[in-house]
Amino acid sequence: MSKKCAICGADINLFQTQKLGDGSQICRKTCRKLGLPSFEYEHADLARVRAHHAEAALGGKLWEQFFVPRMEETYNELRKLKRFGKSVYVSEEIGLAALKENRYKYLFWGKTEHVCVYRIADLRMYDFEKVVTATKKTTKVRYFIRFYFRNIDGLYTFRKQFSRKKCISIIGYFDDLFGLETVNTWDEKKSGNLIGDIKDIIAMAKAAKEAGIQPGCTNITPEELERIMVKAGKIKEGDHTMRLAMEERTSPIDRNKLTPDEFERIMVKAGKIREGDRRKWVDKADATFSKFRN
Ligand SMILES: [Zn+2]
Repeated sequence: MSKKCAICGADINLFQTQKLGDGSQICRKTCRKLGLPSFEYEHADLARVRAHHAEAALGGKLWEQFFVPRMEETYNELRKLKRFGKSVYVSEEIGLAALKENRYKYLFWGKTEHVCVYRIADLRMYDFEKVVTATKKTTKVRYFIRFYFRNIDGLYTFRKQFSRKKCISIIGYFDDLFGLETVNTWDEKKSGNLIGDIKDIIAMAKAAKEAGIQPGCTNITPEELERIMVKAGKIKEGDHTMRLAMEERTSPIDRNKLTPDEFERIMVKAGKIREGDRRKWVDKADATFSKFRN
């Protein structure tokens, strides 16, 4: 039985369908490709998908007008783009940042570029994420920067992998832009603290077995832990701070199910949002948008 794409109305069968977080369906052939590869359709509802498609359409135009002419600049420091890894660009001159990702039709042929453009002023989080994958023989450590922007409804958060050294320099770079000093508070120690807290919690949870719940130790979900902690009298009923912080730390994919507002509340609670001075960056972006030929 065929259904219809919720965006373009085309008939779609099972294999041509991208299911969204709210159960609606769009076509893979056209509509799914309007967004950036980083965008997780399976966790977004239709409204967020539409918002993201609008961002990507606008992003392509802004990229052409403001970033492309600056791509080749090597001499003029102010005009030069800053580039982090393969896909994150920042232009201080125009007050904008861009995430540019490519999609290939087949292997490395048929490249299309997809861009989401952000105001530097809206960057509210650029935090270290350390991911340790351990097998019996090896331990692999990867480092990411999680970016989060305000005033964006679609792709408001994404993360990119960098070397550890690069992560530290990126954090330092943005701290500088916003007149923030304390690079130290962003180091691995802080990033590791939550993991440390979770280990403590797991140890306590073990001790709290008499509370009646038999957790599978490390397989325990944040909700189960919360119940145990409440029963053990370690936290008050209705206090979800720990659970939210754990979910934020342990299941990066789930955070994409959150609305931007919910995400921001958690980030504020976890102390990850840094204000600094944004006025200059608001002015620069405003000046750029006033020149934008839509
Ligand atoms: Zn469609």
